[in-house]
Amino acid sequence: MGDFKKGDKIKLTNGEEIAVIEKIGEGGQGAVYKVLLGDQEYALKWYLPQYLRRLKPDYKNFYKNLQYNVSAGKPSDAFLWQKAVAVTGRKSNGFGYIMDLRPAGYEEFTKFIKARVHFSNTQAVINAGINIVEAFQALHRKGLSYQDLSPGNFFINKDTGNVLICDNDNVAPDGENLGVGGTPGYMAPEIILHTEKPSTNTDLFSLSVILFELFFLSHPLEGAKCCRYPCLTPEIEKELYAENPVFVMSKTDPSNAPVRGVNSNLIKLWPVYPEFLHMAFEKAFGDGLKNGRARLSEGDWKKILYRLRDSAVSCPQCHEINFSDMATSGILKCTVCHRKYPVPFKACINGFEVVAGKGKFLSEYHINHGKDSVQIASFVESKKNPGVWGLKNESQLTWSVEYPGRGAMPYESGKVVTVIPETHIHLGNKVIEIEK
Ligand SMILES: [Zn+2]
Repeated sequence: MGDFKKGDKIKLTNGEEIAVIEKIGEGGQGAVYKVLLGDQEYALKWYLPQYLRRLKPDYKNFYKNLQYNVSAGKPSDAFLWQKAVAVTGRKSNGFGYIMDLRPAGYEEFTKFIKARVHFSNTQAVINAGINIVEAFQALHRKGLSYQDLSPGNFFINKDTGNVLICDNDNVAPDGENLGVGGTPGYMAPEIILHTEKPSTNTDLFSLSVILFELFFLSHPLEGAKCCRYPCLTPEIEKELYAENPVFVMSKTDPSNAPVRGVNSNLIKLWPVYPEFLHMAFEKAFGDGLKNGRARLSEGDWKKILYRLRDSAVSCPQCHEINFSDMATSGILKCTVCHRKYPVPFKACINGFEVVAGKGKFLSEYHINHGKDSVQIASFVESKKNPGVWGLKNESQLTWSVEYPGRGAMPYESGKVVTVIPETHIHLGNKVIEIEK
């Protein structure tokens, strides 16, 4: 089957029928059309026969896997998932699947890396990291692996950090492989060396690369070593990414250090983030490079990225995000405008520290190691006295609040506690302490 025209009807294997509206994209694998199902518009990805021939004899598995993914359902709302399989005749003549259309406001991650699109603020960068990690945790918890992560699969909203993940047709149960190896620069070394097939564990390597690029707009293995070559042949890629990979920010091996004028983003952005984020990447691209077991899991990344979000402080002068961990004696120096200012008070519970600030909150994650999506308390700024913060009770529990030197007072849901050091907020058997 060649090109579809407006009005062409295509059967879905669930018995429904779609009508083609227009072609909206084309690539090496196939074409993407806008189609109508009932009164709802969707995207149809249609594989070209020549692509399926290349997959041969695996295209039948590929087809079966699409059906499997449709029935398994999307792991989370971050995935533009296969909704139904479409086929017109013999499978070898082409088949495809429908998925939700990508809404407006999302840009391909590659555009961020190439500095064609910029995040509105660092908070959006952190949110994007959290959204990517949470999405892959949901995928892996379903027993699936992605197998071919690359920046082309991610679409991000620059203002909110919301993420959509597309090209989910290579997703397969962990341990199964449809013939895809991955994208150079994002594949785990053991795949390049043909000692392992793509899996959940190799996804974790690719995830670290994506996160590194998100924060530093630079590749973790492309530094001085990479600059020696005018272009990357498969042999050089093997050397750089698999045989002798060296982390660009390695503390022990400077042979692949960032190069001024080439890795400018990395040189500029690395000092913006606190040591605990640096250490996470040092582990991911230290031991984690060759030892799959030493890689950071999504759970590890969640801890690190939630901590990054919780310790974020907005500079009162330029509003750039700084991190409380980088303060000296409670004073932060803005990494952008260099103004010095005191770190706001923080709410502490279970070893977590959430610094007061706009949009900051405590969730079930902090209180009971539960879901981060369930908010328990949120910071609100005084309208009369900017810089003075309150903690609003967003839970259903009535809090018992002890300001320093005062007796306990009830704070029902919706009430705001003034954030004063040494205040104790009792939520059932848990206690939030306000600290300097
Ligand atoms: Zn500033």
